[in-house]
Amino acid sequence: MAIKRSPVPQLATCHVVICWPDDKLREVSLSLASYKQLECSIVSEGEGMIELERLVDRLKRNPESDLLLLLLIGPCGRERYTKMVPFLSKRIKLLSDTFVCLLDTYLSESAYKRLELADVGVNMVTSSVEQSERCVKQVLSYLLTRHQSSSTLTCPECGLARLGEDDLWNHFPLYHVINANMSGVCPICGSKEKNIAVHLHDNHGPAKRGEVVADSLSPKTEFNGFAFSIVRRSNKYLVVQEFLGQGYWFPAGRVDRHETFHQAAVREAKEEAGVDIQLTGILTIHHFPHYSERRKKPILEVCVYFVARMIDENQQLKTTPDYESAGACWVTANELCDLRLRNIDILAMTRQVDSGTPILPLKALDVMHLY
Ligand SMILES: [Zn+2]
Ligand SMILES: [Zn+2]
Repeated sequence: MAIKRSPVPQLATCHVVICWPDDKLREVSLSLASYKQLECSIVSEGEGMIELERLVDRLKRNPESDLLLLLLIGPCGRERYTKMVPFLSKRIKLLSDTFVCLLDTYLSESAYKRLELADVGVNMVTSSVEQSERCVKQVLSYLLTRHQSSSTLTCPECGLARLGEDDLWNHFPLYHVINANMSGVCPICGSKEKNIAVHLHDNHGPAKRGEVVADSLSPKTEFNGFAFSIVRRSNKYLVVQEFLGQGYWFPAGRVDRHETFHQAAVREAKEEAGVDIQLTGILTIHHFPHYSERRKKPILEVCVYFVARMIDENQQLKTTPDYESAGACWVTANELCDLRLRNIDILAMTRQVDSGTPILPLKALDVMHLY
């Protein structure tokens, strides 16, 4: 019997550039050391931005090397931050197929900086060593094997080539959920799509095999339910950084088949913000009856805005970009005024909660016979 050999990648080296070392550097570089094909370049704090620019240019010019991952480690401080943003903006085209992860607590928790960094092409901003490591490992898992002959796909957004179907499925949200425009031609089936991320998620990779639920399978009935969670901790609200650079919104989503509004709210908070919540009441219920020309029938949309609290107030927020969101953070109602928002209703609703508007009991939904 022939022995099956595991495929050997033809390209020997991927570069990881780590800069701004601090106490986290040792932890991260130790875990990366297990990847034999990796060459780590460490830019020391003293060498700063100029050295980083030189290194990135050198790696990008050398056809033998792939600069595939740029890991920037904080704390950045104001001075370094003001130098880094123009560097990344200038390099955005050069770095488009490079995963840029910034590990910094202050930046990760700042709703404004998260948007600014996404706009200059930083794929992930996190305060969690664990989440950044998990992402880096996911990125490396296909980057280091992407030269197998069976991998023929190219990402339509960044041009990263020689990916398998699952690699592309995993790669796309991780790198591009921050992008403002995601229209294009699907490299797998050739379909022209307004939103490639939604198309890939629903039609290819694990969704095609039934391992994840495709959104397109949600029932297109005359009744659509949406559940929102207004989660308050001290004077701050939990907000989700939405894909397509749309800005912030409450954790929210469509009520799936066989699911109650309550269950949908709890599930979406976990998927989009990474937290476990307990619903405590209902702020308001909106309904939108309208006639759908496309579906040739009347549709009723019902949106339930729950008030909720974290089960464990210290639970870490999600900062890993995926098909659900680019991450989550806490903001005050005042801070929301200066932020890009997916829907400005969030301003009035957070103010209502701040001012102590009476909250309906959860059983108010039973009265309406909405599950
Ligand atoms: Zn890409
Ligand atoms: Zn397709």
